[in-house]
Amino acid sequence: MSSDPTISALDALSAGVSTIGALPASSVRRPDARKRRATDRLATLNPTAMPTKRSRTIASPAHLERETGMDDIYEKIYVAILEHRLHPGTKLVEERLAEIFGVSRARVREVLARMAHEHIVELVPQRGAYVARPSIEQAMDVFEARRLIEPALLRRLIETLTPEKVARLRQQHELEMDARRRDDKRAIVRLSGEFHTVLADLAGNSALSRSMRELSTLTCLVIFLYDAPTATSCRADEHSQIIEAIAKRDVARAEKLMLEHLDHIEGSLKLDSTTEQVDLAAIFRS
Ligand SMILES: [Zn+2]
Repeated sequence: MSSDPTISALDALSAGVSTIGALPASSVRRPDARKRRATDRLATLNPTAMPTKRSRTIASPAHLERETGMDDIYEKIYVAILEHRLHPGTKLVEERLAEIFGVSRARVREVLARMAHEHIVELVPQRGAYVARPSIEQAMDVFEARRLIEPALLRRLIETLTPEKVARLRQQHELEMDARRRDDKRAIVRLSGEFHTVLADLAGNSALSRSMRELSTLTCLVIFLYDAPTATSCRADEHSQIIEAIAKRDVARAEKLMLEHLDHIEGSLKLDSTTEQVDLAAIFRS
């Protein structure tokens, strides 16, 4: 493996390719993603006992080359970011990604442009694409937006609630709890973020759902950048309390719990502007 940190990070992405086919597909934005998601998730509950069709086909390089469409590349980069395998600020070298996924640079460029549009990737003229590094101000904006959007999503979800929707939330929570039992930190951070995007999907407003997905990904980057040493991203018990309030159609309680939950996440981060801007005068005063 190269000593170049950029290449190493991309090699980590490449190493993840063979296993990623068995991961839940919630990050895929294809219209058929929801249908496929349930079976993929069930497979994830017991990944060793139930190899999925996707995980078998993806193991063959020839299949990889043929089947790696734009959505698959998008999904692999997206999941790697969600799982903190690709860190904020990592350079995404077009040529290297094209090699890893066996596709043209034009296709990689297309995926990166789409991610830039969603603020997950930053395109720097003359220099290339980087995994976004949200500033402290942007991080605070993300939480402000979440505090506005998520109560609205809860209200809409409860208005349109069905037993199937509650079951879907519980299924998602069970995956998260399973990852916690296995102490799989990468899966925990991804699945706890996905809880919020699944909730948004179930609320049934596509525009809010898209916004929530972007905010959730940015939160993931923010957690990586500004996590205090003792912090945890989402507390699992809080998700289960929110699900119970939803199941009882208790809008007021669900909203209150969600706002407290967001406060806890934001409160566990070091979003103190003094940590970003060093006061040189103060350092050399004595
Ligand atoms: Zn959460």
